[in-house]
Amino acid sequence: EPPAEKYEYQAEVSRLMDLIVHSLYSNKEVFLRELISNASDALDKLRYLSVTEPGLLNDAVDLDIRIQADKDSGIITITDSGIGMTRQELVDCLGTIAQSGTAKFLKALKDSKEAGADNNLIGQFGVGFYSAFLVSDKVVVSSKSPKSDKQYVWEGEADASSYSIREETDTEKLLPRGTRLTLYLKCDDKGFAHPERIQKLVKNYSQFVSFPIYTWQEKGLTKEIEVDEDPSEAKKDGEDGKAEKKKKTKTVVEKYWDWELTNETKPIWLRTPKEVTTEEYNEFYKKTFNEYLDPIASSHFTTEGEVEFRSILFVPAVAPSGKDDIMNPKSKNIKLYVKRVFISDDFDGELFPRYLSFIKGVVDSNDLPLNVSREILQESRIVRIMKKRLVRKAFDMILGISMSKNREDYEKFWENFGKHLKIGCIDDHENHKRIAPLLRFFSNQSEEEMLSLDEYIENMKPEQKDIYYIAADSLTSARHSPFLEKLAEKEFEVFFLVDPIDELAVHNLKSYKEKKFVDISKEDLDLGDKNEEKEKEFKQEFARTCDWIKKRLGEKVASVQVSNRLNTSPCVIVAGKFGWSPNMERLMKAQSM
Ligand code: ADP
Ligand code: MG
Repeated sequence: EPPAEKYEYQAEVSRLMDLIVHSLYSNKEVFLRELISNASDALDKLRYLSVTEPGLLNDAVDLDIRIQADKDSGIITITDSGIGMTRQELVDCLGTIAQSGTAKFLKALKDSKEAGADNNLIGQFGVGFYSAFLVSDKVVVSSKSPKSDKQYVWEGEADASSYSIREETDTEKLLPRGTRLTLYLKCDDKGFAHPERIQKLVKNYSQFVSFPIYTWQEKGLTKEIEVDEDPSEAKKDGEDGKAEKKKKTKTVVEKYWDWELTNETKPIWLRTPKEVTTEEYNEFYKKTFNEYLDPIASSHFTTEGEVEFRSILFVPAVAPSGKDDIMNPKSKNIKLYVKRVFISDDFDGELFPRYLSFIKGVVDSNDLPLNVSREILQESRIVRIMKKRLVRKAFDMILGISMSKNREDYEKFWENFGKHLKIGCIDDHENHKRIAPLLRFFSNQSEEEMLSLDEYIENMKPEQKDIYYIAADSLTSARHSPFLEKLAEKEFEVFFLVDPIDELAVHNLKSYKEKKFVDISKEDLDLGDKNEEKEKEFKQEFARTCDWIKKRLGEKVASVQVSNRLNTSPCVIVAGKFGWSPNMERLMKAQSM
């Protein structure tokens, strides 16, 4: 028998293990969720690969997960018939942290900087495989990959800096394919090995896993058996004195153990929307996307006709952490299934434009080939149609939030994702009509509450033609802008664009409901009150003054003109009609640095 080889954990793993063993005490039960989710991932991978390599399924083992718990010994085994791991994969996967979820957890932990680790974090992020050590002294992973003839055993103990790998030699333990985890529970955690407890946890945590999960349960079979009647009784009955032997039946319960299907495997998106409760959607969302807050909106729909697919979309309650990922989203937010088989969640604009990448959801199509590749996705007409429909549904969903009676709902949304929609104005001209009603800005008449474009239009004065705005770096500087004077006098409302991207967004929109967006800081602002005669007079009267000023300022200004747009300020510097506004210039300068 070849000896077991010892390996050291990567430093991050050691740190994580230390934390798990010594600091995280509550919420231990998430270990089962994490391990089942790994089993489910492994089955997904196998099912996906088998589409192009049917040979992988040669062993004809069903794709399922089986959990056996023995309360006396405190041992739990979790077996899946998934893709398994080769020797090298055992080293790579279970000795290092490559995976984003766990890395995210560590970062959050560091950020939270709390001495004792925040126990809530583990529920939010999960720590993947290592959560086995929340409850176990020892973990043994025996795995058979179709890529290898041999089965290997990984063995690790809580509180050790190394693990070992050896070949599986016990023929009784050989798997046709897949992975078996054996958890040797800590003394205090043996309670998890109660079959009923396991059953409850599976129901609670893994109801949306799309592979059958069987748990080993004690069953009772009710049987009617025939028994001979008590002879003394028979004597009493027999009136003729003859002791007749009568037969009687008795009900007994025969105990035995067997596998019991413990989860519901029909994906939630295949169910009729009417029959799914909000709680179920929320649970599905949280479990599928590893979220801890309920979504603020969801939309479950089927499209028919040219392209058929089912989908559930969600709007998260919070924006993803990290600043610069709007246009470079790395989050795996949309999961694509083809005929219920998970295909991929690694998209870059194929199913959703990037600016909408904050939307999470599942999409299941019957029209795509199972072996759909990135290239096929990019070329596919079907995918293009799907994308269009998904985008439309996403906007309907967001519009739904904006129409909520509770104004705060949309304010929260806007705070989190307003920026995304503004990028949409710049990036997605095709959907301007859908984005524009969702925009919100402050104005000179509403500095506390943001207004929609529709609200602005409602407030417009009868003689007002355009939608006015001024871009500034803060509400204060917008409020004090001399450009406002004339408009304030006329009681025209002016949007305050204070987010650097606002101006560009509005610039791209150009107009809304046939009303132009007009920058009040630009030259020749027309407020519809031009008096040409008077202007001509003024121009003549001050022509020499203007010339003089222009000469003094030289190249610093393009021209000096008489204007009717001020009330109390003597002069103002404006941008040329075709030039950038000062705000924009500031922006461009900032970006070129
Ligand atoms: P994650 O699942 O987020 O990748 P984990 O720590 O849960 O992180 O698991 C680490 C890796 O170990 C997985 O990505 C996978 O490659 C491998 N793995 C874990 N459990 C199994 C399993 N049951 N079958 C096959 N591979 C597994
Ligand atoms: Mg995992």
